[in-house]
Amino acid sequence: MKKTFYITTPIYYPSAKLHIGHAYCTTIADAVARFKRLAGYEVFFLTGSDEHGQKIQRTAENEGVTPIEYVDKIVESFKELWKRLEISNDDFIRTSEPRHHKVVQEVFRRIRDKGDIYKGEYTGLYCTPCESYWTELQLDENGCCPDCHRPVEKVSEEAYFFKMSKYADAVLKYIEENPEFLEPKSRRNEMINFIKQGLEDLCISRTSFNWGVPVPDDEKHVIYVWFDALTNYLTPIGFLDDKEKFKKFWPADLHLVGKEIVRFHTIIWGCILMALGIELPKKVYGHGWLVIGGDKMSKSKGNVVDPMLLIDEFSADAIRYFLLREINLGQDGNFNRDALITRINADLANDLGNLLHRTLNMIGKFQNEILLAPTEGTELDKSLKDMAIDTAKNYRQLMEDMKISDAVKIVWQFISRTNKYIDETAPWKLAKDETQKQNLSNVLYNLAESLRIVSVLISPFMPTTAKRIHEQLKVSQPFEEIQLEDAEIFGKLEENHEVGKPEQLFPRIEIK
Ligand SMILES: [Zn+2]
Repeated sequence: MKKTFYITTPIYYPSAKLHIGHAYCTTIADAVARFKRLAGYEVFFLTGSDEHGQKIQRTAENEGVTPIEYVDKIVESFKELWKRLEISNDDFIRTSEPRHHKVVQEVFRRIRDKGDIYKGEYTGLYCTPCESYWTELQLDENGCCPDCHRPVEKVSEEAYFFKMSKYADAVLKYIEENPEFLEPKSRRNEMINFIKQGLEDLCISRTSFNWGVPVPDDEKHVIYVWFDALTNYLTPIGFLDDKEKFKKFWPADLHLVGKEIVRFHTIIWGCILMALGIELPKKVYGHGWLVIGGDKMSKSKGNVVDPMLLIDEFSADAIRYFLLREINLGQDGNFNRDALITRINADLANDLGNLLHRTLNMIGKFQNEILLAPTEGTELDKSLKDMAIDTAKNYRQLMEDMKISDAVKIVWQFISRTNKYIDETAPWKLAKDETQKQNLSNVLYNLAESLRIVSVLISPFMPTTAKRIHEQLKVSQPFEEIQLEDAEIFGKLEENHEVGKPEQLFPRIEIK
C-alpha cells in the first residue's frame, strides 16, 4: 500500500480578496504536496474558505446582498487565484456547504452527548473584526483588541461552552511529549506557556447573528466560527461517510498555518479532537508573515500586494520561486518588488534559462540534436555527476525536513556548477578537434542529463517550467509519471535520444 500524506492550508476568510501572504502559505503547501507525490506518497491536499460569522453577515447586509451571494463571489476569486498559481489541491472545502454543516453538527452532538458541552451565560469583551472574545487581561494598553487594536464591545448572551479546561493538562502533556507536533520550536514554547496560564472553557455558540451552522436541536444558536472552521479538516476525508478514506488520511500529516493561528490549531483543535476521541494531527507548522518593506501588510497602510497582478506581470512560476526561495519557513520574510525582479533576472533568466538554451543550442549545432553514447569521461565529468546525485539526495532530506528554501538553494548551486562546467569544458573548442569527439559527446550528454535532473527537482516549486524543460529535452517518460527516484540516477537519457530546440524560459525584466 502507498504511504499517504494529508496536508492542509488554513481555510481563508472571504472578507476581502486574498493577498500575497495567503499566496505564500498556499504555495508552500503546494510545494510540499507536489514533493510528496514525487516521492511516491498518495497525497490529499486541502484548502478552502471559512465563510461564516458576524463580520460576513454585516458586510453582506451593507452591500445589500445575502451572505451566500456575498461569499460566492469572493470564493470564486480564491479558486481563480489558486488555478492561476498552479495550486494542486485535491479538494476545496467551503464551510457553507451542506457536507460540512453535517460534520460540524455531528461533532457538536458527540461532544455534547459526552457531557463536555454545556449551556451557560457568557459576558465578554468581543472584537467583531477578529470574532474573538478577550479577557480584561488580554487587552492591549489602550483597552483594545490585542490582535487588531480596534475597540472591543461588552457582550452578554446565553451560550454553549466547551469544557476546554478538562483537556488542558492532556494537551499540554501531548505538546511536551511530542516535539514534532508543533514547529518551529519558538511556537511550541509560546503554546506551552499559554496553556500553563490556565485554560478557561470556550464559549462555542452565538445568538447575535445567524450566518453559521445552527446548534443541533437549539437553532437560535449558531456554532462559534472557530469550532466550525477547525472541523473542516475532517469533512473532505470522509469523517461521516467514508470510514476507509478517513482511516487512510487521518491523522493529518501537516496543518500548515500562519503563526497567529497556531493557538487555535494546537490548543482548541487539540481539545476538540481529544473530546471526540480522535488522534491529533501529526504536525502543526506555524509559518512567519510576509512583510512589505518591513511593515505588516494592511489595508489601512495601503501596502497590500495582489498576487494576481504579480502573476499577470511575471508568471506564476516566478512568484512561486521567489516566495519559496527568499523566505525561511517559520520566520517573517520580506516581499520586495526589486528583489523579485533581481531573482527573476539572475536565477531564472540567466542561470537556469541560459543553461537550457546553451545546452540545447550546442547539441543542435554540434550533433544535430542527437545525444551520443557517453563514456566514463574525465574527473571533471565525474565530479559533475557526483554533484547531481548528491544534490538529489540532499534535496530529498531538506524537503522532508521542511527546509524548502535550502532545497531551492542547493538546486541552484547545482545549476551554477553546471554552467561553470560549460565554461570549463568549452564544448565549442572540443567541436573543432576531431580527436575530442567522444569528449564532446560526453559533455553534451552530461549537460542534458543534468537538466533532466533539475527539471525533476524543481517540479514542486515551478511545475510549468519543469514541464517546459522536460518537453524541450523531449524526455520520453510522461511528465506526470516522473518520480523523485528518477532524479537520483545519472544516465537515464538514452543514446541517440533526440532533444528539441531551445525556447526561452524567462524573459529578462527591464528595470524601469
Ligand atoms: Zn480585533
